[in-house]
Amino acid sequence: MNIVLLGGPGSGKGTVSNLLEKTQNIAHIATGDMFREEIKNETELGKKAQEFMNKGMLVPDEITINMLKGKINQYKNANGVVFDGFPRNRNQAEALEKMLEEMGQKVDVALYLDMPDEDIIYRTVKRRICSNKDCGEIYNLEFKKPKQEGICDICGSKLIQRKDDNEETITNRLKVYHEQSKDLIKYYEEKKLIYRVELHANIDITEEMTKEWLANYNSNR
Ligand code: AMP
Repeated sequence: MNIVLLGGPGSGKGTVSNLLEKTQNIAHIATGDMFREEIKNETELGKKAQEFMNKGMLVPDEITINMLKGKINQYKNANGVVFDGFPRNRNQAEALEKMLEEMGQKVDVALYLDMPDEDIIYRTVKRRICSNKDCGEIYNLEFKKPKQEGICDICGSKLIQRKDDNEETITNRLKVYHEQSKDLIKYYEEKKLIYRVELHANIDITEEMTKEWLANYNSNR
């Protein structure tokens, strides 16, 4: 099952992906993580991407699509893939369709995590992430506190805050998100692939919601 996750920054895409990866053995492709890895390794691609990411802007499609094209093949035999943060616009959605088609696959569902902007801002500034990328557990200083401050409950690594999780950058990321997402949602609506879930910051039901959705989805297949 290939799943596209739609939703603003901090709407819970990472949490849903981690859960699907652990419980369904579905691979997790996050273009944002791929870019952060390139930045950490100080590659040419990373340097280019960083300019855009620091401003909360999207990295140009050509760079993003080519990066994914170079990596998607390694997931050919996976039990499915959850795409987190890709596609971000119609052009990327069409590119994804082609990539999957070449592998004899398709997008099965577009899960849309719909959360109000003020909740997104509130959640994102309080987000902390495990620095161990094999773990990647996501915390929130309000709703999902680690047992020990600054330390991951699961693997004991240090928790970090993403550089772009500050109010100024988030406001811009949200603006970019709204400009691009309407068309993308429409694209998947037309294909009858959208499954919309309403979420709020103060009720952290992301995990339960995912489990419920999966049970529903599997029983209707
Ligand atoms: P994310 O981790 O998904 O919030 O992405 C962080 C940043 O990486 C975004 O603000 C963009 O600058 C860049 N990025 C991630 N995915 C994409 C994409 N599909 N297209 C363009 N830029 C992206």
